[in-house]
Amino acid sequence: MRNLVFKLVNPDLSQVIHSRLNQATALLCDLVSIRSISGYERKVAARLAEALSSIGLPSQWEPMPPMPPNDPDLPSSPPTDSDERGNLYSGFPTRNQSISNHGRSIILQTHLDVVPAGEWGEAFTPIHRDGRIYGRGACDCKGQAVVIWLAMAALRDLAIELNGRVDIQFVGEEEIGGIGALAAILNRPRADGVIVLEPTSMNIHPACRGALWFRLKITGKSTHMGRKYEGINAIDKAVIAIAKLYKYEKQLLEESVKQPLFSNYPMPVQVNIGQLNAGEWPSMVAGKATLEGGVGFLPDRDIKTVEQELNSLFSTSDDNWLSDHFELDFPGLRNEAFSTPLDHPLVTTLVASAHSTGIAPVVRGWNASCDARLYARRGNMPTVVFGAGDMGAAHSSNEFINDEAIALAATFIANTIMQWCNYSS
Ligand SMILES: [Zn+2]
Repeated sequence: MRNLVFKLVNPDLSQVIHSRLNQATALLCDLVSIRSISGYERKVAARLAEALSSIGLPSQWEPMPPMPPNDPDLPSSPPTDSDERGNLYSGFPTRNQSISNHGRSIILQTHLDVVPAGEWGEAFTPIHRDGRIYGRGACDCKGQAVVIWLAMAALRDLAIELNGRVDIQFVGEEEIGGIGALAAILNRPRADGVIVLEPTSMNIHPACRGALWFRLKITGKSTHMGRKYEGINAIDKAVIAIAKLYKYEKQLLEESVKQPLFSNYPMPVQVNIGQLNAGEWPSMVAGKATLEGGVGFLPDRDIKTVEQELNSLFSTSDDNWLSDHFELDFPGLRNEAFSTPLDHPLVTTLVASAHSTGIAPVVRGWNASCDARLYARRGNMPTVVFGAGDMGAAHSSNEFINDEAIALAATFIANTIMQWCNYSS
């Protein structure tokens, strides 16, 4: 352990971080106690702005700007009309310099909105016990916001000067499709790298799976059961369609072996049928059937390809009725997959920094989706997901984060920034 600490860019980093850990956990308890479900981020942002100000970092609250209509990266469900929607922006100042010895810039990003409490009565009453904080958002993702704050506080305490810009983006509405992230990408400067903080158990994810929801409507020919021979049963056609969907899943699974970053998952891709509504009456031949489901796919495909592949499953069906009597649309979730090359300096810097911080990260693709896809695909910036806490606890009635995980992740972030932003070629 002693050897690992000596490898930090600044050997005092871990100690300085620990000296502020009580403040950090108190801040997290405050943030958790503010019920910031998607579209209601203003109050939690105000508390965070106060904490940033206490370490000398100014911040700006920006109400969510109007977004381009029918943007392909926006969720199709309209956002809430709350006036508490928006993002909080901050940053770590760059060293004043007249010469052009600029380092590399980075965006540190996480989200301030949380999913609702569900069955958890105490979700917004944080409990700090046995080195853990429990509450909604503890790890997803208010704990990550505190990791960023703590890393910045340590850089301040150590009077660190950086050549490259650090932009901090605390965004809203991640949980309902990434509206805040898209606003940040469209309206703020680009950077040489992006770290999206989510609870990854300190693993480094340079790639994420994508997900697309689909809706398939099949029309049959309804008749009374007594004249069944004159009808076409839409449920029978749905059974054929389901077989085709599972055949497609098999194809996706076979092709997934070409993506080694995802090979550790028992099922890295999926075609899931989540809802089936069909028919009207037990003694009638079903005149319609609607199937709804999702496709999980890897970075070798994009949404457009998956849409086309799904469409051709049915349009080229050897069942002539099915091929002429289906409607396919994609009204829900549409998250692209992405992948940043393993030999990209952002990934190699993060991996080296993790080892010198005492973290032994697994570097692999993530089978969850988050704002990172928007920075990577829409923003065209090298992007990696990393964070403290366990994804298994997120959205649960037992969400928590360990104090020590906050400290370790903050040490890692501060150490990484010093390496990344002061790099000069
Ligand atoms: Zn999250």
